Amino acid sequence: MLFKNIGLVDENFAFREGMYVGTIGDRIAYIGENEPGEEAPAPYAAASSGDAEARGKKADLLAELISKGEAHDIDTDKVFDYTVSADPRSAGETGACCGRSYAAGEMHPVYGEVYDGTGKILMPAFYNAHGHSPMCLMRGYGENLPLDRWLNEKIFPFEDKLYSDAVYWSTLLTMAESMQFGIVSTSDMYYFTDDMVRAIAVSGMKSNISRSVVSLGCERLEDCVGYKEMRDSIFMYDGFAEGRIQVEACPHAEYTNSELFLRAIADTAKEFGTRMHVHVSETKSETDGCIERHGKTPTEFLAECGVFDVPANAAHCVWLTDNDRDILAAKGVSVSSNPVSNMKLASGMCDVPALYAKGINVAIGTDSVASNNSLNFFEEMKIFALTGKVKSMDAAAMTPQQVLRSATRAGALAQGREDAGLVKEGFKADLIVVDAAQPHMTPAYDMLNNLIYSADGKDVVLTMCDGNVLYRNGSFMTLDIERVRSEADAAMKKILSLL
Ligand SMILES: [Zn+2]
Repeated sequence: MLFKNIGLVDENFAFREGMYVGTIGDRIAYIGENEPGEEAPAPYAAASSGDAEARGKKADLLAELISKGEAHDIDTDKVFDYTVSADPRSAGETGACCGRSYAAGEMHPVYGEVYDGTGKILMPAFYNAHGHSPMCLMRGYGENLPLDRWLNEKIFPFEDKLYSDAVYWSTLLTMAESMQFGIVSTSDMYYFTDDMVRAIAVSGMKSNISRSVVSLGCERLEDCVGYKEMRDSIFMYDGFAEGRIQVEACPHAEYTNSELFLRAIADTAKEFGTRMHVHVSETKSETDGCIERHGKTPTEFLAECGVFDVPANAAHCVWLTDNDRDILAAKGVSVSSNPVSNMKLASGMCDVPALYAKGINVAIGTDSVASNNSLNFFEEMKIFALTGKVKSMDAAAMTPQQVLRSATRAGALAQGREDAGLVKEGFKADLIVVDAAQPHMTPAYDMLNNLIYSADGKDVVLTMCDGNVLYRNGSFMTLDIERVRSEADAAMKKILSLL
């Protein structure tokens, strides 16, 4: 696809007007002020092949492991048989998609469809650094409660009744909402990993999935189903779906795991060479409880157990000490801040300026829709900026460049996606288009300020992931959105009837 005459948030988070950006396959291949020529840049001329073959080999290996009882049983056809039906126009084809037929418009011989960017902005897509996708079924269920009562009285009983297809359809619903709001990848902590994987594979989206371990009540590693499934999920799915899916190790939190399990999960991450995702100091009571139990803060204790010896993503980090921030900085831990969820559950506000001051990679997460109640990432960015200003009592804190970087590049880095999160030649073509020709985006003294404080999630008119257009002008290219909504609604009603 060739974006023509479009406003651009460039790799330095500066705004440039009237730009051309071309994608080939899954990469950004051209950025310039002039229309590109008809010769493809050499490194991007050949599309990669062999993905289907690699997938077939993995399916065979998995079937063998399952038959030997070395992996938990799944229907490999269900998981491995998928196609991503992205927008045919972006590949320069005419065709039908989502109940409509499309004619290709203006075409460029190298980049395919020419997209008229007049009045629009091209920017890196969002990386949601902390979520629990299937929990969208609990949107609006259990309101106005503090975290402990919200969990124990509403969320845990509901989750107890979850089942495979409910997770599949709810994950698809979250993928739809994510692409609508410009998110292409989520650090997604939950369970029912097989069902999440098959949903994400078919949606065309990316995910850093983690099967979170809650081990309280388990004395030995072999007694904990979650621990076994976490290990299974890493060797089954890490790198799956053309690398769109990565799998991380995950102790749910300090307060839900014993030292034995924290150390074993850290060892698992080292053994598989994978990343780590964990909740850290979300609430004051959690933090105080850890100090009572161990004489250390959650950050100190997790570090001591080796949890931060691999690249890690620490969610929330609302109640940190200065020493905690030093530990996170020294260990190179990324922090995912979830300002809407933290305020909605009255957990507190993360001191992002203090984290920035230590050079910590701070990304933005939505947390689950059950405590947000949406994935509107423009709203999340604005509130992320506002809470940082209030927390530091400094209106100059949280520059638009810092906030945009946290929403994009920092999230990609928190997911270990080094070649993503910037509009830069050679990087993954994970891009969104924002419609700026609207009253609430006018005038634009500084378009970056407008993107943080004036834009809305609904202004996203196109979402591209790995060069595939997944969402465009209200159409979901890979999903039958009416079916996804009705199946998710039916799952919600079925679970309620069981409570
Ligand atoms: Zn969470």
